[in-house]
Amino acid sequence: MIKKIFCGVGIAFTLLAAEGLKRIGSLMAAINAADTPYYQAILYISIASAGVFLVSFFKEIPKIVKYLVTISLFASAGIMLAAPAFPVNQQIFAGLSVAALASFAIPTPPKSEKTVMENFKKNEVSDAEAQPHNICPFCGTKTEGPDQAFCANCGRKLPDHEEQAQDVNRDESSTVER
Ligand SMILES: [Zn+2]
Repeated sequence: MIKKIFCGVGIAFTLLAAEGLKRIGSLMAAINAADTPYYQAILYISIASAGVFLVSFFKEIPKIVKYLVTISLFASAGIMLAAPAFPVNQQIFAGLSVAALASFAIPTPPKSEKTVMENFKKNEVSDAEAQPHNICPFCGTKTEGPDQAFCANCGRKLPDHEEQAQDVNRDESSTVER
């Protein structure tokens, strides 16, 4: 929830910066200033970052994209420090630096947590698979363990761990012959 607020702040401030950049950019272009490409580049960065903030509302952003956004926003803010202190440049700088800070809140896929969950699930499955092995599939009597070859109650051969799944499926037809 807090992350979403930061992402909203990120959108607002990248757009604030973009608005200022668009104004100063066209002004600079009008007077043919050498700085125009910088303003253009930072404008694209702002718009792209706003897009990432927007997407981050709905889904997790790959870590590499998040880092790119953070780094390019900080770099852009750094470049704006060198720009003349017009009010519009201060607006751009404020927008970029707040957005750069907000970009830390962009949600990324929780990699380590997922692995833990997957392992946990795998263990659960293997535990569940291992359980029937401890009971005789023919009479349901508890066995001593995986090393026991024959059921103590009905005397039938206990299936190996690997054969378990197949044997359970066909035990009605094949147990008599075995
Ligand atoms: Zn048995």
